[in-house]
Amino acid sequence: MRGISAVPTYVVMQPTTLCNLDCSYCYLPFRADDRRMPVAVAEAVAEAVEPWARTGRFSVVWHGGEPLAAGRDHLATLLAPFGPAVEHHVQTNATLIDDAWCEFFAEHRIRVSVSVDGPRQRNDDRVNRGGRPAYDRIVAGIAALRRHGIPFSALCVVANPEPGLAAELYSYFLDLGCDVLGINVEELEGVNTRTNRHPAAAVTGFWAELVAAWRRDPRIHLREVEWSLRYVASVLDGTADEVLPRRLDPIPTVAHDGSVVLLSPELAGFSDPRYGDFTSGNVLTTPLAEILAGALDTPWIREFIDGVEACRDTCPYFGFCGGAHAANRYFEHGRFDGTTTDHCRNSKIRLLEGVLNHARDHEPTAAV
Ligand code: SF4
Repeated sequence: MRGISAVPTYVVMQPTTLCNLDCSYCYLPFRADDRRMPVAVAEAVAEAVEPWARTGRFSVVWHGGEPLAAGRDHLATLLAPFGPAVEHHVQTNATLIDDAWCEFFAEHRIRVSVSVDGPRQRNDDRVNRGGRPAYDRIVAGIAALRRHGIPFSALCVVANPEPGLAAELYSYFLDLGCDVLGINVEELEGVNTRTNRHPAAAVTGFWAELVAAWRRDPRIHLREVEWSLRYVASVLDGTADEVLPRRLDPIPTVAHDGSVVLLSPELAGFSDPRYGDFTSGNVLTTPLAEILAGALDTPWIREFIDGVEACRDTCPYFGFCGGAHAANRYFEHGRFDGTTTDHCRNSKIRLLEGVLNHARDHEPTAAV
């Protein structure tokens, strides 16, 4: 894997900056403001992605803020310019989902991913603007999805990996009925400055325990564990070089005003005296394909590529990780050309070690 691809596999879109919740670990800077995406931005993106969607699988991920806070009417006007080959996804806190939203998802064939951090007592960080717990509204939204037979993925943030937690979470998500589960160990980024440094054994133990729980009942696609197993299998059969894409996916994030941040959605809305506002252009003035073709003209991206190459030269986990995310380097190191972050320790290195530890602990005993 070298350089950045000129064609992404998905685009992240911000229909509004607003979120109706105020979770304590959130990285978003303008989540109290309702800055809505005009239709002209969606039209420009739709025109750009059409040829990509015709030749391969292509997705638009409606993110936020909380995308449902834009309202059904506005979201419908933003969806309208896209052709039928484009897959649409929403990443939502689920609190606004009701029967009408479920009908909207079905009508527009939108795939839904909900954010929920496990059982009630694990959701203390999820609060509304008045500081009141959001859990009951989250599960009410998920109940509506289930009533309507709408499949959904779940995304769970883990603030503090500790013994017993992985098994508890896996059992909860089995009952919740999601078909895919992603686990994010909380990250220090954006306006969230809480530390994400944890004892190595606790994080490795968390991932090992999660694999064990999944293997007992593998009904859910467990995103991180499946990535790891795919990589381990490729090492064993000599195809590890083929696991990472040939080039980095540029992951364009199109903010409400049409500005484009590449590689890390978490950088949108921030600025730095050295790097400016991290944007690489605006779809209202420059076609998205042109913005992507000139990605390396953005100074921080050149610095990030230097960091990825430093990872390739120094880190034994590079073949699995590919250099992780730009935003984690920036928010942890203040620049992009460093290598190891607490994020990559938690979510790459200790993930792979946890999966391997599980395998070592369950080696078949030799026949005697
Ligand atoms: S694990 Fe960390 S140091 Fe290693 S390649 Fe990934 S980001 Fe770089």
